Amino acid sequence: MSKNIQAIRGMNDCLPTQTPVWQKVESVLRDTVARYGYSEIRMPVVESTDLFKRSIGEVTDIVEKEMYTFDDRNGDSLTLRPEGTASCVRAGNQHGLLYNQQQRLWYMGPMFRHERPQKGRYRQFHQFGVEVFGMSEADIDAEVIAMTARFWQAFGIADKVTLELNSLGSNEDRAEYRQALVDFLKQHEASLDEDSKRRMETNPLRVLDTKNPDVQAVLVDAPKLSDYLSDDSKAHFSTLCERLDSLGIKYTVNERLVRGLDYYNRTVFEWVTDCLGAQGTVCAGGRYDGLVSQLGGKATPAVGFAMGLERLVLILETLELTQDIPGPVDVYIVVAGQEAEKQSLALAEKIRELLPNSRVQLNCGGGKFKKQLQKADKSGASLAVILGDDEVANGQVTVKYLREEKPQISIALTDLASALTSDS
Ligand code: ATP
Ligand code: MG
Repeated sequence: MSKNIQAIRGMNDCLPTQTPVWQKVESVLRDTVARYGYSEIRMPVVESTDLFKRSIGEVTDIVEKEMYTFDDRNGDSLTLRPEGTASCVRAGNQHGLLYNQQQRLWYMGPMFRHERPQKGRYRQFHQFGVEVFGMSEADIDAEVIAMTARFWQAFGIADKVTLELNSLGSNEDRAEYRQALVDFLKQHEASLDEDSKRRMETNPLRVLDTKNPDVQAVLVDAPKLSDYLSDDSKAHFSTLCERLDSLGIKYTVNERLVRGLDYYNRTVFEWVTDCLGAQGTVCAGGRYDGLVSQLGGKATPAVGFAMGLERLVLILETLELTQDIPGPVDVYIVVAGQEAEKQSLALAEKIRELLPNSRVQLNCGGGKFKKQLQKADKSGASLAVILGDDEVANGQVTVKYLREEKPQISIALTDLASALTSDS
């Protein structure tokens, strides 16, 4: 016998039992951003490799070791997108959406990174992201963060996530700080691990991100980025903090928060949770005023975030908040008798017209009455509508309540909608 082909490691099927929670998550996110007047943009999942090298940065984890890059049949180097921001900026530039305009955009879809698969970390995963263009003041940073806070409320997890905030300042501020940090790290090189030594040369701010407690101890005395911020950057950050305060959104300033991608400046933030073990960041973003021009467009300020949907779903599952999400069937039609069977497809269509907001599943393929009722129960439906020969002849149906202690009723088919709404 031939061996069954398996999915690629770290790339998951989303099975029918899991899709209801995903659909729920997706619709809450869509509905929430719609309430802020944001528009959807859809980008291809494959882009030129250069796009990601030029935006995310050559010496980041993503570009150095996580990208799915291959030559296509023409010999062009292509990459499965590891994130959405670069593609969104590319699309905005290409279609003239950005220069001298304001755009509030969102996207959702699969991303690809060749990482070690583990809980909350996969090779194909899904992000919901927002990108806003053409606004440089801190009010829009606050709006974007307020929107994320509203997500948590909508999912009932507001008390399970916390907001960490930092300002990276301008590129100039950071260049000066970078030098001071490198000088400090050089003095303490003996106490650094290999990873930090390497990063000291390539991307020193990332050393601040270390998970190694020994290196963290060294960093206690490191120069602070906040001491190197220009007055403008400080003012921007304090306005953001004031706006968040006035919204009642709590945050902690984390001076070590630098983010793994090169394009950020000024505001950076992460929403973190302790429900998920090591993979605790659910949503991360910030300002990237330089990226549009870096990718060939006219300078345009921008801010955004991306959220990992697998991590969000995991939080909901961990907290057992997925129980009430309904399955795919509300009404299951049981067919008893030959005449009923002949008419069952047409009657099912009729019932769908009478109950346009219900998900109506018809028993197909016959079967004993009891068996059909078992299938009705298993379908998760709250009601069984029974079509028997006599009833069909009289234009009637029987409604059996599957989840409530209520006697079944016999009613005219045409009264089905009113009977069901009046008793609920
Ligand atoms: P991490 O530090 O966990 O590797 P990151 O800084 O690489 O995250 P971003 O590039 O900022 O993550 O992506 C935004 C969000 O996308 C993350 O906060 C996380 O929720 C999600 N995410 C990133 N990589 C993965 C992955 N491999 N699997 C599942 N979700 C992911
Ligand atoms: Mg990562």
